[in-house]
Amino acid sequence: MTYLEFKGVSKIFYDNQDNENYAVNAANLSVDKGELVVFVGPSGCGKSTLLRMIAGLEEIDEGEIVLDGKVINEVEVSKREIAMVFQDYALYPHMSVAENLSFGLENTKLKQAVINEKIEYSLDVLELGNLKGRLPKQLSGGQRQRVALGRALVKNPKVFLLDEPLSNLDARLRVQTRKLISDLHKRLDATMIYVTHDQIEAMTLGDKIVVMNQGVIQQVGTPEEIYQDPSNTFVANFIGTPSMNLLRCQLNSDATVQIDDAIIQIPETLATKAKDFLGKEVIVGIRPEDILLVEQENGLEPELIEYLGSENIIYFNTPQGELVVKSNVSNRLDREKSYRLQFNSEKLYLFISENGIRI
Ligand code: ADP
Repeated sequence: MTYLEFKGVSKIFYDNQDNENYAVNAANLSVDKGELVVFVGPSGCGKSTLLRMIAGLEEIDEGEIVLDGKVINEVEVSKREIAMVFQDYALYPHMSVAENLSFGLENTKLKQAVINEKIEYSLDVLELGNLKGRLPKQLSGGQRQRVALGRALVKNPKVFLLDEPLSNLDARLRVQTRKLISDLHKRLDATMIYVTHDQIEAMTLGDKIVVMNQGVIQQVGTPEEIYQDPSNTFVANFIGTPSMNLLRCQLNSDATVQIDDAIIQIPETLATKAKDFLGKEVIVGIRPEDILLVEQENGLEPELIEYLGSENIIYFNTPQGELVVKSNVSNRLDREKSYRLQFNSEKLYLFISENGIRI
């Protein structure tokens, strides 16, 4: 059931010449109760602005946001029943962990016993019990972020808003805290909106992913849908590491495309969809893991091989552009050798050359 809904929501900023810039442009989105939705996209795509509009930290210029059946455009920040967690923790430096947790509850009508119970519960689930007397400066980054999460938790909000909460943590702590957030979400059945530029966080955390670019929602879907069924070249390229290869090729009249020496037959269902593009240039998409390398004399020579332990990332220059291949190390790849490319045609994507939309 839709719990939080964006209906044609826009945010306009004006530059020094008074030109309109849409930071968020006509966003439509439904979030169910208990869902963890991740907004992901490159820096400046509008994801924080969209989040801040839910919180009431940015005015909504066009459209409506509906939370739990009520339009919240004009509702005061303090009355929205949301809690926000920021990248830089935003803790009170002169207050202990326990005081930081209780501060937001002091002006509510809750009885002290209820407040204490909520704090003890948060300290417990976030494993902060033995740190409750410490000041923020006596905590590590990961511990501070757990306190910030605790502060959101005690408020029992309708929606948790998390704005790049892991960006200041090192790689190991990021993974730990990511698991903690995922656990919390499941345990509390909480509705969460999570903003990140990191597609791995988006893929691992999200029930639903919202991919944004230049203020516009590009696609909404489960991690599997976004990965396997990208709706345009932006999504195809942004989600997945290394990125999907996108090569400009002629779609021949017999529904084949050529990449280097390989002639690839487009599978029938896709060829039928692409019939209007026969004889024209299209963008062919293929993920690095869907290309096989076969050793061959006088074939393509790798430009670069990156050894990552469990796999190799191999870069080639083809007449159609740079091509990246992911291959596990059991294929003993050698920079001196040369290769033939073998494409899994079932895993091929076609996009319209002019606008990047999936065919
Ligand atoms: P993201 O969170 O995806 O990095 P933001 O939502 O912070 O992006 O910003 C989206 C766009 O809006 C950017 O182009 C940014 O420069 C612009 N922007 C954000 N806040 C303001 C502001 N207060 N005044 C003018 N432009 C802003």
